[in-house]
Amino acid sequence: MTPSTVWDLYVMEYARSKNQPWVDLVAGMYADGVMDLPFSFVLLQRDGRNVLVDTGFMRDEHGPGFSGKFGIPTWMSPLRLLAEMKLGPDDISDIFITHAHFDHMGSIAEFPKAQIYIQKSELLSWYELFALPKRFSHLTAIVDPQTMHTALGASIEHRVTLIDGDKDNVLPGVHVRLGGGHTVGHQIVIVDTAAGRRVISGDCIYSRSQITGRDNDGVYIPLNNAIGSAWEQLKTIDKMNDELGGDLGRLVVLHDIERWKGLPIVKELEGFRIVKVA
Ligand SMILES: [Zn+2]
Repeated sequence: MTPSTVWDLYVMEYARSKNQPWVDLVAGMYADGVMDLPFSFVLLQRDGRNVLVDTGFMRDEHGPGFSGKFGIPTWMSPLRLLAEMKLGPDDISDIFITHAHFDHMGSIAEFPKAQIYIQKSELLSWYELFALPKRFSHLTAIVDPQTMHTALGASIEHRVTLIDGDKDNVLPGVHVRLGGGHTVGHQIVIVDTAAGRRVISGDCIYSRSQITGRDNDGVYIPLNNAIGSAWEQLKTIDKMNDELGGDLGRLVVLHDIERWKGLPIVKELEGFRIVKVA
C-alpha cells in the first residue's frame, strides 16, 4: 500500500431511534428488550477528496415522513455535520451506497455533483420491487420512493456507477463486496487506512453478536429486518468475516449500539458524535 491510498475515516452520527425492540432487527433477540439505535454515515478524506459511504436522510418539510414512520425522534441534518468538517454539499465528489434504505440513501439529492457507486442488483431490484402489485409493498417499506426518482435523474446525468459484484479499488484504496440478504444488492465497503483495512458492514449486521454468536458460540445470527433469506445473509456475514480476518477491531458498524466505543471523538454536537475511526 502506498501512502497516497490511505484514507482518513470518520463516522458521522446523525439520528437515533427510541425504544427500538432488538428482535425487530436481529433474529432471536426476544429477551433483549428495547434500545435507542444510533444512525450514521461515513466520511472518507484523502488529498482533498471527500467521499461518503451512505448519506443519512433528510426530514421532509411536509411532516416527519420516514423518521416518524420508523420512530426516529432525534435527528440532525447530515449537511450540518459535514459543515462542522468545513464541507459543503459540492465538496462531496463520490458516494458509496451500501443499500437503498431511506436512512442510508435518503440524502443523495443533497449532493448534486457526486458520483454514486451502488450495486447494479441493488438499484435495479428496487425498480422491479416497486413495480410489483401493491400487495408486495412490505418489500419496499423502508425505501423512500423519492430516492428512486433522484437515482434515475442522477443516472441520466451519468452520475451513477453500477457495480456488478466484488470490485477492488473502485477508488484507490476503496473496495466493495456484494453482500446480499438485508437487501438484494447490499454491499460492504472496505477502506485502506493508516491503521490498516476497515470494513464497513452496512446493515448486514446490527450487532457484533451476529458474527460471534450468542454467548460467543461462533454461530452466525441472521437479521429479522431483511428481504433476503437467512442462508444468503449468513453467507454475507461469512464473507465479511473473511475480510475481517476474524479481527472485529477492523469492523465499522453504522448502527453501532456502543457508539464506536474507544475511538476518539472529534466533535460532539447536541449529543451526536463525529468519531475518527482511523
Ligand atoms: Zn437497511
